[in-house]
Amino acid sequence: MTVKILLVEDSDSQREFLKEGLSNHGFEVEIARNGAEGYKKLFEYVPDLVISDIMMPAIDGYQLCRLIKNKDETKKIPVILLTMLDKKIDSFWGKKAGAQLFLSKSIDIEELIKNINATLRRYPVTAEYKAAMTAQISGDNSAQSQLNVILNDLLLKSVFANEFRNLSDFLNYERILVEKLFSLLSSFVEYHVAGVYFASPDNFSENILYIDTLGRNLSKNLLSDIQYDFFRKLEEIKPIRDNKFEVVRMLLGKEMDYSFNDMKSKIIIPLVFDKKLIGGICFYTRSDTDYASFRFFDIMISELLAIFKMKYQYTEKEFMSVLDGLTGLYNRRQFELGLEQEFNRTKRHPADFSLAILDIDFFKKVNDTYGHQYGDYVLKTVSDLMKSSFRKTDLLYRYGGEELVMIMPETNIEGALIPVQRLRKAIEDYAFEYNGVKAKVTASIGLTMNFIEFKNATELLKSADEALYKAKESGRNRVIIHEGNAHD
Ligand code: GH3
Ligand code: MG
Ligand code: MG
Repeated sequence: MTVKILLVEDSDSQREFLKEGLSNHGFEVEIARNGAEGYKKLFEYVPDLVISDIMMPAIDGYQLCRLIKNKDETKKIPVILLTMLDKKIDSFWGKKAGAQLFLSKSIDIEELIKNINATLRRYPVTAEYKAAMTAQISGDNSAQSQLNVILNDLLLKSVFANEFRNLSDFLNYERILVEKLFSLLSSFVEYHVAGVYFASPDNFSENILYIDTLGRNLSKNLLSDIQYDFFRKLEEIKPIRDNKFEVVRMLLGKEMDYSFNDMKSKIIIPLVFDKKLIGGICFYTRSDTDYASFRFFDIMISELLAIFKMKYQYTEKEFMSVLDGLTGLYNRRQFELGLEQEFNRTKRHPADFSLAILDIDFFKKVNDTYGHQYGDYVLKTVSDLMKSSFRKTDLLYRYGGEELVMIMPETNIEGALIPVQRLRKAIEDYAFEYNGVKAKVTASIGLTMNFIEFKNATELLKSADEALYKAKESGRNRVIIHEGNAHD
C-alpha cells in the first residue's frame, strides 16, 4: 500500500520541489498551501504523515501541529516540521507543539526520505485509526472552529487559574483567604459541605478545619463526623508523595436531613509538598457527583497546591522570624518569650514593669470600608506612632492581627500611663491618608503591671486583656488601668 503524505507548504517552488522528490520515492503526496487548508485536508485525505513548513500565513506550522496533536482522533498522525533557520526557539516550539521531528529545509532529499521512513516505522498509523478519522469528516472540522474550541478552553483555564492566583493576596489573613476560597470553590464545585485545612509548619498550632455549609446550619454531630472523617483520611494518606485525590462513594443512608450518611459522594484531597502534608480540602454532597470527571479538577488541584504551598512557606517564614513582616515590630512568639522573661526576671530581682495592650477600634470597619491594603497601612502607621511614643528600652510587639503590646521595663503604672496616653492621643490626632483617601482612627488600650497577686505571666496578660475589654465596653478611644496591689 502506498504511503500517503500530506505536504503543507506556502512557497510554490518549495512545494513543487518537495512534492516531486517525494513522489519519485514512491510516496503519494497531497498538498496544502497553508495551515488551515492542511487541517481541512487532514480529514479528507487521512495521511500517514504530515510534513509542514513552519512559517505560513494565518495558521502556521506550530499551530497546525498543535491542532493535530490536541485531538485524540488525529494525534497519532506523525508530524515533521521543516524550518529555514536552525533556530533553537523553533526546535523548542516544535517540541512543545508535539512534532515528532524537526528538520532543516536545507536537508537534501535522500536525507529527508531516510528521516521520513524512520518516522513512519516509529509511528505507524493503523487502518482502524484511519477509519475512525474518516468517520470524523461529517463533523465540523474547520481549522477555525477547532481553534476556537482550543482557545475557549485555554481561556477558561487561564481565567480559572487566575481566580485562584488572586487568592495569594490574602496569604496572611487566613480567615479571609478561607472565605474567598470557599466562595470561589462553591461557584464551580457542587457540594453541600466543603472543608479546608492548612497544616502548620510548627507542630503546636491546632488543626483547624474550616467548614463551609453554604449558609445552612448543620448539626454538631455532622460537623464532628466530617472533621473526624477528614483528619483520619489525611492521616492515612500522609505518606504519599504526590497529590492524589480519591473519591469515596458512600453508602446510601436513611433520608435524614443532613446526617453524615446522607452525604452520597465525597472527595478528600490531601495537598502534599516536599513529602509533607501541607493541607487538605474536602467536598461532601448529598447527590451522586463524580468529582473525578470534572474537567477542571486537575487545574484546581495544582492551583490549590500552589496557594497552600505559598501559605505554608509564608507561615514557616513568620514562625522562624523574630520580626513581624508588616509592622517591623517583634512578633507574637517574641512577645511570649519576652513577657515570660521579664516576669521571671522581676520575680528574682524585684522591680516594676508595665504591660499595655492596644487594639484598634472598629478595625473591621476600616477594612470593610477602605479595603485591606488600607487596613494594613493603618496598622503600619499606628505601629510607627507607637515606636515614636516610647523609649528605646521599651519593647514593642505585634500580638495578633490589630493588637499591639508594649512591655515597659522598670516602669510602674503611673510612669507607663504617660507614653500610653501620648500614643492614644497621637492616633486620635493623626490624619491617616493613603492613596488620597483620608480616615480617622482611634484605639483602646488596657494597661497593667506586675502586681503582687499575679502568680505567672499568663495572669498578668489576662489582666491587661480585661482592662482592654473594659476600655472597649466603656466607649473606646481610652486607656483603662487594671487595679492591683503594687510592690512596696
Ligand atoms: P473593636 O476592636 O473596636 O471592638 O472592633 P474591631 O472591628 O477592631 O474588632 P475585631 O477585633 O473583631 O476585628 C479585627 C479585624 O481586624 C478583623 C480582621 O479582619 C482585621 N485584621 C486583623 N489583622 C489584620 C491585618 O494584618 N491587616 C488588616 N488589614 N486587617 C487585619
Ligand atoms: Mg479592634
Ligand atoms: Mg481585635
